[in-house]
Amino acid sequence: MFTKVLIANRGEIALRIHRACQEMGIRTVAVHSTADATAMHVRLADESVCIGPPSARDSYLNVAAILSAATITGAEAIHPGYGFLSENARFAEMVEAHGLTFIGPSPDHIRMMGDKIAAKDAMRRLGVPLVPGSPGALASLEEAREVADSIKYPVLIKAAAGGGGRGMKVAQDESELEEAWRVARTEAKAAFGDDSVYMEKYLDRPRHIELQVMADGHGNVVHFGERDCSLQRRHQKLVEEAGSPVLSPAQRDALGATVTAALKQLGYRNAGTLEFLYQDEQFAFIEMNTRLQVEHPVTEMVCGVDLVREQLRVAAGERLGYTQDDVRFNGHAIECRITAEDPLTFAPSPGRVTTYHAPGGLGVRVDSALYAGYAVPPHYDSLVGKLIVHGANRAEAIARARRALDEMVVAGINTTIPLHHRIMADPEFQAGDYNIHWLERFVARQEENR
Ligand code: ADP
Repeated sequence: MFTKVLIANRGEIALRIHRACQEMGIRTVAVHSTADATAMHVRLADESVCIGPPSARDSYLNVAAILSAATITGAEAIHPGYGFLSENARFAEMVEAHGLTFIGPSPDHIRMMGDKIAAKDAMRRLGVPLVPGSPGALASLEEAREVADSIKYPVLIKAAAGGGGRGMKVAQDESELEEAWRVARTEAKAAFGDDSVYMEKYLDRPRHIELQVMADGHGNVVHFGERDCSLQRRHQKLVEEAGSPVLSPAQRDALGATVTAALKQLGYRNAGTLEFLYQDEQFAFIEMNTRLQVEHPVTEMVCGVDLVREQLRVAAGERLGYTQDDVRFNGHAIECRITAEDPLTFAPSPGRVTTYHAPGGLGVRVDSALYAGYAVPPHYDSLVGKLIVHGANRAEAIARARRALDEMVVAGINTTIPLHHRIMADPEFQAGDYNIHWLERFVARQEENR
């Protein structure tokens, strides 16, 4: 096992990784921008190195500075967390070229899944069901028209290099296609420097259901069940659950068997998540994330597994040491993503946190880097914490979430805590009766009733 790991990230996820390392007797190196000198991940780490000015491009994405920090401190491995460099194949290659271990999949697999067209191609060959769409990148508007005619409107134009819901445009009918084509390509070019786009059938009321997998690179692949991440705003997740309120254990087993067989054939290593849309009892693959995800804790709560620990073990060359039959699913877990934003308008709300009180009690977990007196910097993602609750069943988990949200205090900045209160109290949510469009409508209703 490693003796020292550099954590190339910030915020709650840097803390999350630090905690797993500490429990395994691994020393940690934090990296930080000048804006994060007093951040919790820096305070808790065994060592820390400043890697640049506030702008993420010059700090958390500064590959040369991060590799130097690892070399100077004698770290043997780098954990990228999520976001930033976590799905950058070139970075993973450079880490390995420096004789360090990248805690994640092989650069080839990162590259393959980072190109959503290549990812869909691979999954098609491996027998995983897909959303109907263009066979590859769309060469012209003409081709877009032909594909749309064959799969029928509404259609979605998506960026091949996409992420974070950017470069994605719906065309309800032919009159909207040219505009969608143009906007999606312009957005894709601006966000990813690559304007290749492809087309999918736009599903009108799917749920977003994803499967967590872990592979050791020695031929052992297990899944830790599904997460339902249908509660989204602008294609960004806000609340996640494990398991899905609509999936039976038999459906989970069947999907799990397809996915683990595919990844075994692919020779995949480390953690990964396959994302599906689920509608009319059918799963359709949309993309694979080759990293730890924000919502991984709900899986940890129901499976009783530390996914970061598993990532570290696998990266160090260890075998999983358990099989699918050893994975048990216990109760239900819900995560509320708490962001520094206005709970109605979602206007960013960085600034100083004057009071902070985290809830506690049975089945309550808070993953956050907040503390009283901390100033949330304006330069980064607005996620400031995650409240994760576990209960014997979904109703108990919801009751616990409501109780914990009541206890939680974050003063001085606006947060989405009040929105989570209202979601947890909503009868439709409580009935599990929602799809990927539900939250947008819910938020619009809240705005109207203001
Ligand atoms: P990104 O990588 O930008 O997050 P994804 O492909 O993961 O893009 O899609 C993000 C979200 O967009 C999905 O969770 C879903 O809500 C919506 N979405 C994606 N593809 C489709 C589709 N074909 N039909 C309807 N909604 C979709």
